[in-house]
Amino acid sequence: MQLEGKIAIITGAGSGIGEAIAHLFAKEGAKVIISDIDDKGGNRVQKDIETRGRYATFMKIDVTKEDEVEQMIESTIKTYGKIDILVNNAGYYAFNDRVTDIKIKDWDLVHAVNLRAVFLGCRFVIPHMIKAGGGIIINTASESGIQAKDILAAYTTSKAGVVMLTKQICQDYSSENIRINAVCPGYVETKMVREGYAAKKNPEVYKQSLVDLHPIGRMGTPEDIAQLFLFLATDNSSFITGAAISIDGGLSSGRRSGYNWLKSDQY
Ligand code: NAD
Repeated sequence: MQLEGKIAIITGAGSGIGEAIAHLFAKEGAKVIISDIDDKGGNRVQKDIETRGRYATFMKIDVTKEDEVEQMIESTIKTYGKIDILVNNAGYYAFNDRVTDIKIKDWDLVHAVNLRAVFLGCRFVIPHMIKAGGGIIINTASESGIQAKDILAAYTTSKAGVVMLTKQICQDYSSENIRINAVCPGYVETKMVREGYAAKKNPEVYKQSLVDLHPIGRMGTPEDIAQLFLFLATDNSSFITGAAISIDGGLSSGRRSGYNWLKSDQY
């Protein structure tokens, strides 16, 4: 039980990677606060965890709303007296957007969910962590925050912002015993990625083109990714902070040939 007695908030835990993190943290003894805009998903994950005899509670939160993020932090402090771990994981992916094509409202939404919400979570939790003598923050960035991609301008820039915000907070709050890292997954077959297939003429060919990006020969699973979050949430990683850590089956090791998003209409 590596997280016995810990209080952990996980945003975007009603599905995908956040759901896997919630299950793993609860299995390791944490009391898990599942936060998501989707109450169906959030309630389902809470029930699944409780069915296994572990602790979870669900809070419906839109992470783009300043007052809701503040309320998530304050009500957790009121109920549990502390927050040991905050995982800023909620995310939104807009497809096929070049700078000249994307609607300005879509750019703003991607940045609000992926970057501004991470800022808000950190903004409201850090004072409580400082009062408690320290804490751990883990942000879900992406390999797309490290290298640019064809036609993915809003997403890549938002995730690059998460990487730099992580480093900035490391610089500013390490002396207060706040440890913060960013996780950079490759493609993981979650709702977000499946919606990408669904929009294509030939989902199977398109899916294979994504698999082929990974030298290891497959996409990640949410459970693969959750293991890194667990490592970063424990003292096993006590000398790691301000890092953007790739977990991507080799995707970021170099560009694979035979892949061209600009021609992705053929898929
Ligand atoms: P997902 O769609 O399964 O889960 C995302 C969750 O975020 C959903 O439950 C959704 O309801 C929630 N969410 C969206 N907008 C929200 C809002 N405004 N307020 C609160 N919750 C909101 O996708 P996922 O793949 O599990 O994504 C989790 C994180 O991982 C995201 O930050 C994503 O960008 C990142 N990521 C995913 C991949 C991938 O290939 N799946 C790769 C790299 C990074």
